[in-house]
Amino acid sequence: MDQNNPFLSPPTAARTFGFFVDGQWREGGEHFERASPGHGTPVTRTVRCSVDDLNAAVCAARNAFEDRRWSGLSGAGRGGVLLRAAEILRRRRDEIAYWEALENGKPIAQARGEIDHCIACFEVGAGAARMLHGDSFNSLGDDLFGMVLREPIGVVGLITPWNFPFLILCERVPFILASGCTMVVKPSEVTSATTLLLAEVLTEAGLPAGVYNVITGSGRVIGQALSEHPDVDMLSFTGSTAVGRSCVHAAADSNFKKLGLELGGKNPIIVFADSDLEDAADGAAFGISFNTGQCCVSSSRLIVERSVAAEFEKLLVEKMKKIRVGDPLDGATQVGAITTEAQNATILDYIARGKADGATLLTGGGAVDLGRGQYIAPTLFSGVSRDMAIARDEIFGPVLCSMHFDTVEDAIQLANDTVYGLAASVWTKNIDKALTVSRRVRAGRFWVNTIMAGGPEMPLGGFKQSGWGREAGIYGVEEYTQVKSVHVEIGKRTHWIA
Ligand code: NAD
Repeated sequence: MDQNNPFLSPPTAARTFGFFVDGQWREGGEHFERASPGHGTPVTRTVRCSVDDLNAAVCAARNAFEDRRWSGLSGAGRGGVLLRAAEILRRRRDEIAYWEALENGKPIAQARGEIDHCIACFEVGAGAARMLHGDSFNSLGDDLFGMVLREPIGVVGLITPWNFPFLILCERVPFILASGCTMVVKPSEVTSATTLLLAEVLTEAGLPAGVYNVITGSGRVIGQALSEHPDVDMLSFTGSTAVGRSCVHAAADSNFKKLGLELGGKNPIIVFADSDLEDAADGAAFGISFNTGQCCVSSSRLIVERSVAAEFEKLLVEKMKKIRVGDPLDGATQVGAITTEAQNATILDYIARGKADGATLLTGGGAVDLGRGQYIAPTLFSGVSRDMAIARDEIFGPVLCSMHFDTVEDAIQLANDTVYGLAASVWTKNIDKALTVSRRVRAGRFWVNTIMAGGPEMPLGGFKQSGWGREAGIYGVEEYTQVKSVHVEIGKRTHWIA
């Protein structure tokens, strides 16, 4: 390791983490060793927790909720802790980004940008804690007044995936905390380090013990047990549609816990002939290559107007060939490693299926050999028909499929021809087309002449099989509350019994 800057090369030995329950670090017997997907060397060891460990964490979160050590604070009190957490994250930005890049394989520059977004999440969450409010009804007649209270829902289980371990965490945790809830977090087994580091940050910021607990381990054992747990009031799950479905069954078979689900996507990017084609090509290259396409909102279906399709694809190929695929710890890298071996194999398999199904490969189409780690070149297929697997399935890799359209109606119909509804974008200089398409495409997030832009003020979530509910911003805080109607009689009651 470089002695002057420890964040430029992988560690010489794996760092061991405990897990975090009731404000205490605990050790476990069995460990899971994680190798950096960019380097192939071990970087972290996390505990394979047991269901008993999980039960202890739920119990700690329940006690912390019931004695009101957190929900009993004022919004300003909770907001103050969140603001201090933002400051600590600012101080520890490079360190957290380093572990994120090592475990996930994403470029270090991107990881640092993500931590900046996470800091903003805490700042917005702090404001939301102070602004959260209910409603009142002054319309029920002179003798009745109605108040609508928002109360924290209780103990929240939070299950996160490996593609944005810290970002997805921070798009939820500040808003859960703003609402007054307590929680048990189960990160992906391959990317648990930064979720554990957040425990240090929140403790230093003054969060009371038991409010934020982290249990590491497998999805099959710990994730399943958390989703079935009868003492968890709400589960926020982000991950695959298949596991999301199993969470719905688990909730129905246990205590009908409320669910927030953020699942898969197969997101369209619609390019009209009247757009700035240079801008749109840059957006398309970014939209499929960012985070190696392992992004729930990756724009993986290019829907381009036929009259400019050939010109646009040529422009796009030129741009995609210039993307710098490289070592995640190299500050110049734009596209890093594929996070898991299984995902690497899945992506290569889809590329092979695209070729076998008769799509035309325009660029990429295979692994990039950097001597260590697993990397795939940004890939573009043209001549894709809507029934091909590469056009229908969420590949979760840097593989873009180009399809062509003739009219606005065709474009909308193609965009909506998916079971998902997470995100979409349109590129045009015509305001009528931009508004028509943004109103007709069924997706939770929509961009006009940009892509993956936004801030934690805006809600996130999906239509159709992309999920239930919204995260972030005031919408996100409200998801973690219950609404209670309070009716107040004014004056003397009109008696029922004469
Ligand atoms: P995954 O569904 O395999 O795992 C997600 C999390 O669920 C992990 O923590 C895992 O350990 C856990 N898990 C696994 N089996 C479980 C079970 N039976 N019960 C409860 N939890 C279980 O997903 P992944 O491979 O980590 O991530 C990729 C998927 O996540 C993609 O489909 C992607 O679209 C989706 N995703 C969606 C969003 C979004 O905001 N919509 C964001 C990121 C990723």
